[in-house]
Amino acid sequence: MIEPARQKRLVETELLYASYGYKPLNILLTTLGTLIVGRMLFEIFPPMEIIAWIAALLFCQLWGGIECLAFRHANPGPDAIGRWQWIFFIQTAASGAAWSLGPTLLISQNSGADSAFFVGTLMSVASVAMFSVAKQRSAMVAMMVTTFLPPIIAYWNTGGAFELRIAIVLFCGMVAAIAVGVFFNSSVRKMLEAQMRTNTMLNTALGAVVGINSMGQIIRWSRHAEVVFGWTLQEVSGRSFEASIVPERLNADTANISQLLVDCLAGNQNRKYELIAVRKDSREFPIELVLTGHETVNGLEFTAFVADISERKQAAAVIEESERRFRTLIEWVPEAIAVHSNDIILYVNAAAVRLFGAASAQDLLGTSAKDRIHADFHHTIPDRSAGLNKLGATAPQVEAKFLRLDGVTIDIEVEAIVINYDQSLATLASIRDISERKRAQEEIQDLAFRDPLTRLPNRRLLLDRIKHAVASSSRSERYAAIMFIDLDKFKSLNDYYGHNIGDLLLQEVAQRLIACVRDVDTVARLGGDEFIVILEGLSSQLDEAATQAEVIARKILSALSTLFHLNGIAYRGSASIGITLFTDYEGTVDEVLNRADLAMYQAKAAGRNTLSFFDPELQTALVKRLALETELRDAIQNEEFIVYYQAQVVDNKYLSGAEALVRWNHPQRGIVAPAEFIAVAEESGVILALGRWVLRTVCAQLAYWSTQPEMANLTIAVNVSASQLRQPLFVAEVLATVRDTGANPRRLKLELTETELVYDIEDVVTKMTQFKAAGVRLSLDDFGTGYSSLSYLKRLPLDELKIDQGFIKNILNDGIDAAISSMVITLAKSMGLGVMAEGVETEAQRQHLALQGCNSCQGFLFSHPLPLAEFEKFAARKVQEISAHASA
Ligand code: C2E
Ligand code: CA
Ligand code: CA
Repeated sequence: MIEPARQKRLVETELLYASYGYKPLNILLTTLGTLIVGRMLFEIFPPMEIIAWIAALLFCQLWGGIECLAFRHANPGPDAIGRWQWIFFIQTAASGAAWSLGPTLLISQNSGADSAFFVGTLMSVASVAMFSVAKQRSAMVAMMVTTFLPPIIAYWNTGGAFELRIAIVLFCGMVAAIAVGVFFNSSVRKMLEAQMRTNTMLNTALGAVVGINSMGQIIRWSRHAEVVFGWTLQEVSGRSFEASIVPERLNADTANISQLLVDCLAGNQNRKYELIAVRKDSREFPIELVLTGHETVNGLEFTAFVADISERKQAAAVIEESERRFRTLIEWVPEAIAVHSNDIILYVNAAAVRLFGAASAQDLLGTSAKDRIHADFHHTIPDRSAGLNKLGATAPQVEAKFLRLDGVTIDIEVEAIVINYDQSLATLASIRDISERKRAQEEIQDLAFRDPLTRLPNRRLLLDRIKHAVASSSRSERYAAIMFIDLDKFKSLNDYYGHNIGDLLLQEVAQRLIACVRDVDTVARLGGDEFIVILEGLSSQLDEAATQAEVIARKILSALSTLFHLNGIAYRGSASIGITLFTDYEGTVDEVLNRADLAMYQAKAAGRNTLSFFDPELQTALVKRLALETELRDAIQNEEFIVYYQAQVVDNKYLSGAEALVRWNHPQRGIVAPAEFIAVAEESGVILALGRWVLRTVCAQLAYWSTQPEMANLTIAVNVSASQLRQPLFVAEVLATVRDTGANPRRLKLELTETELVYDIEDVVTKMTQFKAAGVRLSLDDFGTGYSSLSYLKRLPLDELKIDQGFIKNILNDGIDAAISSMVITLAKSMGLGVMAEGVETEAQRQHLALQGCNSCQGFLFSHPLPLAEFEKFAARKVQEISAHASA
């Protein structure tokens, strides 16, 4: 668009050129007119004055003629026309003054009809001349004023009434002429402006416009065509259009312009052609050509619109080059890159072809992008709905499973950005194979968080899940449940059939548990035969939530009591389940687990294959137990334990030895009996340290007694717990203690209970044999209460059976107890073992046992368990008694 000031100047230029264009004709006519009028007036007016006037006029014409030539020569541009407007103005004003000179001079001498005729004639000629100068407004006004004003003043000065009237008429004529001139000027100006606007519009919109006749010759040639091709209209007018713009070397080309004109006639109007054209200066350049044909009064004509597309071509070439560079770059980066739009793959680079498992890019182009992504991950494909609809928009990194063409599934990581591809938006995805990393990650996670046998979450992951469940239940205010599931009698299965079968059962149990719960619930293995199930999102009402949990627990019970087939072995098991419900829970994760654990123990106590909910009373017991546990640990540190000794007597007279029974000398509670703490010590593991201490104390005692004549032959029996016996280094540890203290191993007796023997019979036999070899004696405590089978009793290298005190208690009034006692005695004798009765409180019981053949006894009848000093006194007394008896 051209700015207004510039456009105004262009209009002025146009007007000035037009004005100078008229000027020669104007001069010619005026000169002719001057000579005719001069000849007519020659007789009427004084000749000298006429001659002077004509001379002045001819001078002005001559001036105008020279000025015209000078203007043509200067051919001034829009920026130089100001000066020429001035020159034009002065010459025109001078001509006007010269015109009016004659009449003005004559009016003073002859103001009658002759001068009036003279004036009238000149004024008419001046008015006509006015139109030729009207295109220069100020010059026109100056000319009117210099032509009319001098005669008006001259008439006015004569003072006659008639002359005054002429002056007034002339004045009105002048004003009217100026008004008409101004009006004419402004309409010409407006017309020019409008034309200019159209021209500039056409020039900018259409580029060069060329008119061509049916012979293919140029008949019109727009200003822009001059700019584009360098030829002026004069130079090309009438020449062949084709020859004028097509380089000679291409003239022979098939797609020549004559052919295009024929095509145009055949109906291919307004078609765009790209051609190579040549300028006047022989420079070749690309053009875009559009042809239209139309019928005119002169016959068939064509209009060619020509645009110079060098810049456009150059820009396209630059883009093409950068695109080519970009493609090369993309093609060779090691990262897989794919471009897709509307699910169609448009481009893949070499790395992508490899990653996709394809032979070549052709296998992939045009196929569906979705088909390559595992269905579970379709939502991760970035698309428009995910806001990817703007150039440059990016999608965050996602992971997905990718289906290679060769059928292998790999893990990938994808990032995407919206780009312009073939003139529309497409998604560029950069893809990395992260299978290796994923596998390693999973492996590490598995190792850290999965139980290798069942693949279930292990304790660590479980605690984490419980933490989440606790958090989300207090957020949602819905109850969650933790179930503690313990398989009943799993140990026996393991012992009878071996660990492999036990493992199979655990795996099968894991499967059944998973089948019983929803996907969102967690099944974990805590260790051994203990499993945990977390149920989340239960009702927000406690009773409803409890019912929901119970339904699932019953389902689990029934699933676990259904027959298992373990490598050909049919096994029917059962489980005990403890359940705790919580919402808004504020305790620790361990406490939640303990609650479920406690409830599970309750279920076990209730006869197994059942479920039990956690109840707050259990909680109190739990808290107490925990407190006791810590107290026990401190007690060991503080050496608060002491050993009591209870006498073991043979034949009602001889003191054969003592049983060491531990007591807790509690700082507040005084002497505490083992019944109150042994169970807790066993569960918490404190028993190991306690047992070690007892053994060391006893061995030290034996070593000391060996130096006291009346004590030297006594044995000491020590109770050993299952967990102690299970320690792999137990034998070595005991024998080391014996050695260190200098005790005689033959004076040491270990009391084992049947339950201790159950866990791994082979291991027990090995350990007992080692003790035996070292001379340590072994006694089977509480015999008759367990479910010992004779078969393995025979394999144990025992020295003695201890009849449980429960049978002794009613031995006199309960036939069954009496029968069992006598059977145990017979059994011991038949196997060559010693037998001892414990809990003997009366002489009658002792006599009954003696009659049956059991001569070794322990019980209140002889002595309560006593502190060391008292026992030593008791022993001394017993020795004296016996020696008195003997001497008596
Ligand atoms: P236990 O091995 O059966 O010990 C015999 C228990 O019977 C002792 O109870 C003893 O005081 C009690 N007793 C002895 N004679 C009579 C009697 O005539 N009538 C009655 N009613 N009871 C009698 P205590 O000392 O309370 O020990 C209880 C249990 O604690 C022991 O049962 C033993 O299993 C365990 N225990 C004691 N000391 C130790 C120890 O150092 N290590 C381990 N592992 N367990 C121990
Ligand atoms: Ca005992
Ligand atoms: Ca006992």
